[in-house]
Order: sequence, then structure tokens, then C-alpha cells
Amino acid sequence: MEMINGHDPKPHAILFPYPLQGHVIPAVHLAVKLASRGFTITFVNTLSVHHQIVKSSQPGTTADNDDIFAGARKSGLDIRYKTISDGFPLGFDRSLNHDQFWEGVRYVFSAHVDELVGNMVGSEPPVTCLIADTFFVWTSMIASKYNLVNISFWTEPALVLSLYYHLDLLIKNGHFAKSHDNRKDTIKYIPGVEAIEPEDLMSYLQSTDTSTTVHRIIYQAFSDVKKADFILCNTVQELESDTISALQQKQPIYPIGPIFPSGFAKSSVATSLWSESNCTNWLDSKPTGSVLYVSFGSYAHASKRDIEEIAYGLLLSQVNFVWVLRPDIVSSDETDILPVGYEDQIKGRGLIVTWCCQIEVISHPAIGGFMTHCGWNSVLESVWCGVPLLAHPLLTDQFTNRKLVVDDWRIGLNLVDDHHKGKTITRDEAAEKISRLMGGKGGDDHELRKNIQEAKKILENALTKIGSSEKNLTQFIKDVTLKMIQKKYNYNKNIKH
Ligand code: UDP
Repeated sequence: MEMINGHDPKPHAILFPYPLQGHVIPAVHLAVKLASRGFTITFVNTLSVHHQIVKSSQPGTTADNDDIFAGARKSGLDIRYKTISDGFPLGFDRSLNHDQFWEGVRYVFSAHVDELVGNMVGSEPPVTCLIADTFFVWTSMIASKYNLVNISFWTEPALVLSLYYHLDLLIKNGHFAKSHDNRKDTIKYIPGVEAIEPEDLMSYLQSTDTSTTVHRIIYQAFSDVKKADFILCNTVQELESDTISALQQKQPIYPIGPIFPSGFAKSSVATSLWSESNCTNWLDSKPTGSVLYVSFGSYAHASKRDIEEIAYGLLLSQVNFVWVLRPDIVSSDETDILPVGYEDQIKGRGLIVTWCCQIEVISHPAIGGFMTHCGWNSVLESVWCGVPLLAHPLLTDQFTNRKLVVDDWRIGLNLVDDHHKGKTITRDEAAEKISRLMGGKGGDDHELRKNIQEAKKILENALTKIGSSEKNLTQFIKDVTLKMIQKKYNYNKNIKH
């Protein structure tokens, strides 16, 4: 860590990931990244997330010890671990009672956060920074109460941040929150976003009912982010340069992605909320590039009909596939979703699991394509592995990420031509798109593979010593340190005069 005026203030950040799989994973790797650069981190999971991780972990892993960072600490990183109630009992079905859960996170969680942060006054080294997922609504309130540097952690593309950031413009121009007659024409007034179609907005900005819990969270969180001292973003400058530059006019924002486990190897810190099936032996038996990996992430739901059409599409396409089919993909109270006898029909050619170590699977040479919901982590991971995508967005930012993947970067195809919210899938179209992606007759895969190699280079370059993400991270650390000094932290007591 850089010395300032000969002194060496040690940043200690409390880090709160959003209690969802796709947010916990990058937050864990952010913690490791910052700790490797001299930060002390106190990482806070909700008790529910913690219990799910421990329940799912393999015997012998660090999660066994009830402290997912025990291994990281042994390797010299100062990462401490705490858990906190999200306000609900452990047995409460958060997936089934979605709205009630988010309402609790919005209203009750901040009281637990306040108590935890209050109890950490007097820690050594003193707590100086709060890093909280951008979707939390209480960050500025807690940061100012405890005089902490307010750092917002954004786990989606800059494009999505920019659209939420400028909600006021979308409302003013009639593209959002106009009930049934939202404008349908191209949006051209968001700073740093040349043009975007309304159907590529995040699903919440396409809905006509704008009074839901999630909308209330969005209104509060994206007003609160404007009070952040710094925004860390899991994207890459060169991928979204115009959008990032425009945001930087408003606030200090640092693209430091892609945030992955070191060496893109299975993390030593347990992060999975479900038990992982090992697919390696099965993949070892398949030819290079012959297997389609299918996963719709950890959170979104699909209709039973769509799952059935995809199942038959996979069958008709005749490709090999690994399909992650979460038990709650339709709903946690409807788990019998595949057509009768399906698993017999795909024997030898298809492997269906409830969860896997995705980075291990997509970096296997047998994988040649990824049918994905376009979750941002999945997109980054696929680019890193040079695996082209077949896009099937279901919810939230996935529609917007699809635009980046298919329309802007041309590293993927749409699963169905009518790819918008509420579309219908047919098995024939799914089969045809799968063949095109995997290099079958009339395949588009050559162009996609060429483009994704270029995108992969951008990601790789960003993480080299002189790459943009490394430089941005260094700048961030300097700026945080200065901010800490401005806030007059009592770090002097550790300095020998
Ligand atoms: N993932 C995994 N195993 C699976 C499916 C997903 O490890 O079987 C990981 C994946 O590598 C990614 C995260 O879970 O890091 C999902 O995040 P993403 O942003 O893609 O989607 P979300 O789950 O947030 O919708």
C-alpha cells in the first residue's frame, strides 16, 4: 500500500454483499483482491446465505469450520468473517416468498447492519470504509452515522448502472412509469448510451406496475448511490468506454473487472449455495468443443412450458450438453419439470445436474457453447473462456446484457429471434439456434468465435500490470486513502514518530 506523507493508514472495510448467489461470488473475490492489496476486510454474509454455503460445501473445505475465509487467512490475507440476520428465520423460503423477503431486506436489514457496524467500533485496525452492494438502500445512512468512506459495489455492466442512474430521464421522457402508454421508440438521451430500445431495458423498467417492492428498492438504491464516495464496478473500461466515461462525469467510478478467483481456478473460499456435482469425468469423455453448457443462473425462474421446449430443442439438436437445472427453476413448489422419460432419452449425450462449479465446467475444453440467461457473471466467465453464448434472458439486467452480447459485441446469438420479455420458445427454433451456435449446418460460430477471442483479449489485457482494471484499482486505493485522511481517521496512533 502506498505511503502518504510517510504514514501508512491501513484501510479496514466492512463488505456487505447482496444476499444472492450472483452477488456473493464477485464480492468474495473482491474481498480477496482488496486484501491482497493491503486492506483488512470484514466480510458479512447473511446467516441464511452462510448456512446454505456450509450445508452445500464438500467435507474438508474451509466452510466446514464455519468461516469461509479460514483458508484465505492462512495464506496471509486479513479477511475476517461475520454473519448477520436478514430478519427472517433460517427455514423461511426466500425464493417462494420473494416480495416479503425483499420488503424485509429493505426495511429490517438496516437495523441489523447498524447494530453490527456499531459493535465494530474499536476494532483494530479501526473500520474506515463501508463497501455495500449498490442495491442496498441504507449505505449512505450507515456510512455517515459511523463516518466511513462510502463505497458502492456494482456487480452488473456499466450500461445497466447508467440506465438506473438516469431513471429520472426515463420518467421525464415517458419511457418508464407511464403505466400503459410508455413510449416505444428508441432511447437516445442517456449520457454515454448512444441508443437503446425500450425492450432492452431491465425487466423492472419494462413493467407497467411500478409500485412493487423491487421498484421501491430501485428508487431508493439508485438515489442513495449518488451519495457514494466511490463506485467499484465489475466491468472493463474498454468494453464500455463511452458509458463509463459519462458516469465518471458524475461520480468517481472504477471499472476493475473481471473480478474472478485468482487463476480462474476453483476458489479456495466456498461460495456455492447449492452442492456442486462434478462434471469433469463426463466432460473428459467428450470431444473438444462438442458440449453445450446450459444454465439460467441462480435466481431467475422459467415457465414449465419453456423448460419443456428447451428440453426437446436439446434433444432435436443432437448436441452433447450439460444442463444445470435448479430444483426451483420453475418454482420451489413445482420440482417435477422434465417430460416423462426425458433422462432416458438423453443418456450418454446429456448430463443434468442441479448445480456445478460453473467456472470449472466452462473452462473445460469439451465446452463449445453456453446457453445462458445472460447473468453478468456468466457473461464475463464465458468471455474469459472464449465460449460463445446463446442468449435467453429471463429477468432484471439479463435483457440489457443480451443487447451487449448479441447486438453490440456479437459474441452470441438469440435463442429465439423474438427475444423480448414474454416471448415464446419453440423446440424447432431452439434446436436450430443450438446447431448454429455449435457449428452445425449454416453455423454462425466462426464469426462469433473470432469476436469472442477479441473480447477475451480485452478482459485479459485489463488484468495485466499495465491494464486498465489494475490501474483503476491502484487509483481507487490511492483515492480511498486520501479520503480516509480527509475524514481524519485516528490512524496516527500506529505511527512511530
Ligand atoms: N454458477 C455456478 N454453478 C452453476 C450455475 C452458476 O457456480 O451451476 C455461478 C456462475 O459461475 C456465476 C453465478 O453462479 O458466477 C451466477 O451469476 P450470474 O450473474 O451469471 O447469474 P445470477 O445467478 O445472478 O442470475
